[in-house]
Amino acid sequence: MSPVSPQDPWVQVAEVVRLIRRGEAQTRPELADATRLGRNVITQRIQAAQDLGLVQPSGEQRSRGGRAAEVWEFVGDKGRILTAMVGTAGFRVALTDLDHRVLEDRHVAWELTGDPLETCERIAAEMDAVLALHHLGSPAWGIGIGLSTPVNYVTGRSVRPVTAGPPGLDWSAGMDVRGWFTRRMQAPVWVEALPNIAALGAAAAPDAPADLVFVRMDRGVGSGIVSDGRLHRGADWIAGEITHILVHPDSDRICLCGRVGCLDAFASRWALEAEAHRALDQGRSPFLARRPAPVALEDVVAGAEAGDPTCAELVLRAAEAMGRALAGIVTWFNPRRVVIGGNTLADSALFQGTVSRTLNAQTLAASVDRLQLEHGTPDRAEDVIGASAMVTEMLLSPEYLAEWAPGGFPIDVEVLMAQKHDFLA
Ligand SMILES: [Zn+2]
Repeated sequence: MSPVSPQDPWVQVAEVVRLIRRGEAQTRPELADATRLGRNVITQRIQAAQDLGLVQPSGEQRSRGGRAAEVWEFVGDKGRILTAMVGTAGFRVALTDLDHRVLEDRHVAWELTGDPLETCERIAAEMDAVLALHHLGSPAWGIGIGLSTPVNYVTGRSVRPVTAGPPGLDWSAGMDVRGWFTRRMQAPVWVEALPNIAALGAAAAPDAPADLVFVRMDRGVGSGIVSDGRLHRGADWIAGEITHILVHPDSDRICLCGRVGCLDAFASRWALEAEAHRALDQGRSPFLARRPAPVALEDVVAGAEAGDPTCAELVLRAAEAMGRALAGIVTWFNPRRVVIGGNTLADSALFQGTVSRTLNAQTLAASVDRLQLEHGTPDRAEDVIGASAMVTEMLLSPEYLAEWAPGGFPIDVEVLMAQKHDFLA
């Protein structure tokens, strides 16, 4: 794709839509000021955006001269976005509008073993069901997919994980996830790693600062980095891989990566569940002994909150390890906000309190005094909002809008498939 010119009328339409959507300019005079385009041109660009159904008038505003100016608003209801989050024990399919309002949200238990294409087909079937339920006669405007492995965002292909996971989770590195879903669902598709999607979700909050980190606790511990409002993906698409940061070099806990003392060996689901089983076998936890087998991370967190000393120790050691890892990250990156979410452990007040104390003890005041340490939402809303935001931002970007707007609907699959990937970077 050749670089788009600011003189391209559709690029100007995209800018008008962006200004109206963000509330930065909403009347003809404001839009003319903000874009430095003439009033007549602005009138035409607003008309084009209205023809696409993306903006509509929403009343009048009195200007200082006394003349009323029409106020324009973004029509988030105009388009529908499908999202799919593929986790370790199942997947989640949701439908949103262009304002990231959630219209449908389904969790499906699914074994991620065997052929990844079987998983893709099962997800696509769920998407078909959601579209049918909402009587959508046309395809979705776009699809956002989150994977539990790293992703090359430009090609939409999975990247080999840093360590090997259970079978089925690796998405056979290099798999063309975007191509598969684009052909199957007949809609533009973007694919991203789950921690990055959660970070985009946190960044879409109305009060979100420009620099933030989302720590997404799951089978391992991932994180997404938003710097100056943009996702930082790294040279090899594995930025934010905090799970293998060394936090206890003298420990005897062996990590999945083969080394000792990684954050993963203290704070990941697999590590805590392995430790819980050991404690159970050794008769060290009356609380876990009363829980139905096999004990899970949720049991450890419940035990810690109920005062079981072994469970409490596991949670505290996980939190302390997380605080140590974050101390380095916060010192180096200076985020305004760190959100920790993703699972029950992340939600635990005991865990969060200890993370905060460790972080404060190990970081200079200048780096933590104004830091906002927050919980993720219990329903993992960041995942769905982040995937929806990722797709909406791409659809309404000048580069992509200029491709689909002349046809009136973001359906031109070939545009994405024909090696026109450079604008994605
Ligand atoms: Zn490791």
